[in-house]
Amino acid sequence: MRTIIEPFRIKMTEPIHLISKADREKALAKAHNNVFLLDADDCCIDLLTDSGTGAMSAQQWAALMLGDESYAGSRSWKKFEASVRQITGMKHIFPTHQGRAAESLMAHILVKENDVIPNNSHFDTTRANIEFSGGNALNLLCDKGMDLKSDIPFKGDMDVEKLAAVIEKYGVERIPFCMITVTNNTGGGQPVSMANIKAVKKLLIKYKIPLIIDSCRFAENAYFIHELEDGYADKSLLEIAQEMFSYADAATMSAKKDGLANIGGFFVCQNDEWAENFRNMLILREGFPTYGGLAGRDLEILSVGLMEALDYDYQVYRHATISYMGKFLQSKGIPYVKPVGGHAVFLDAKEFLPHIPQLEYPGIGLVNALYIEGGIRSVELGSVMFGHFDTNGKEIPSPIELVRLAFPRRVYTQSHFDYMLEVIENVWQNRTKIGGHRITSQPDFLRHFTCHFAKI
Ligand SMILES: *Cc1c(COP(=O)(O)O)cnc(C)c1O
Repeated sequence: MRTIIEPFRIKMTEPIHLISKADREKALAKAHNNVFLLDADDCCIDLLTDSGTGAMSAQQWAALMLGDESYAGSRSWKKFEASVRQITGMKHIFPTHQGRAAESLMAHILVKENDVIPNNSHFDTTRANIEFSGGNALNLLCDKGMDLKSDIPFKGDMDVEKLAAVIEKYGVERIPFCMITVTNNTGGGQPVSMANIKAVKKLLIKYKIPLIIDSCRFAENAYFIHELEDGYADKSLLEIAQEMFSYADAATMSAKKDGLANIGGFFVCQNDEWAENFRNMLILREGFPTYGGLAGRDLEILSVGLMEALDYDYQVYRHATISYMGKFLQSKGIPYVKPVGGHAVFLDAKEFLPHIPQLEYPGIGLVNALYIEGGIRSVELGSVMFGHFDTNGKEIPSPIELVRLAFPRRVYTQSHFDYMLEVIENVWQNRTKIGGHRITSQPDFLRHFTCHFAKI
């Protein structure tokens, strides 16, 4: 069959509403033209993030009812531990309430002042936690990953030569570990090849530097390897994930992504000393090591969800919806980042709105136009999020201006996707009418969440 279908039917529904255009205009004005400040009920299709926004399966809801809320050594913990061990093969397993909790404890126990932590691209919370411990977070993405237009696979790969140069430059004493993020969220959800993970590991072994995988989208990455890399077509996604983790000494995880859960995370490692230190900090900050800030029912949900994310039919369907969007955008000449990533489509706002100067934030113009046109909430990844001020207080724009449409897992159906495309096309046809914005108030850091905009 040519038609790829959703590999599930719907047992429970949640209503969504498209409020009138006049009300959308009012809502956005009240939110100071910043979609982060909108009420979720005023958004018809919410593509702000794929984190914690997925739908659970009947099996997960059923598992939830089996949650054992015992403080220590609960049945639910045993199930969680078994799933995570089967996938990662790690000796020590620690639940955390979400990904950044794992990162914060990891940075606390492993990162010292002036250390250097390489990664293909650090996610913003990973970077913030490393920097908070005094470390320097370095991005060593391969050159092809910087090219928004090239359609080649595995644009999330790390540049192994750059890594070798960094090790030579700073010395092993200053590099307590190296990270690799699968898929590369900051770089458009692009996958990392097994060949690259192996090459990175081979180099690190030479210097005895441990490898930590930021594994939030490990199942989506396994799917890309299955589809695109030689030698993996006959392997299951579970086997591919197991191989990925086999090259790592530890991993952090936000289970709000490929855990198919609304909350949760973990840290896993092989090293006994790391485990001892992590456990002590976990008890201080998150909770007893067999629940780590989660309820027993959350552990149940995760033990099922982590395995469901490795279901091949689920990944085929997920990727089909995203590449369907890419094909449509391509056919209309609407600029987007190629190839489409594992969890999102990124529109190129600089090319979409060439008449808006970068410091009038073309990404915000596009985000707001998508909301007014069709009640779709997206997010700017451009000069508002990544711009900075130089020492003279001059604002320096980001090299790229993107708008991310992130797709919650198992939430929207084909007609929702068709609707999104119609909205995008309407906005595209009327793009010359979209104007710029200026910032009227902003906090000192992470300004994109709360700043206010006025239309120019
Ligand atoms: C979401 C995410 C995190 C942080 O996880 P939270 O659960 O949001 O704290 C870390 N790394 C990557 C790549 C992510 O996508």
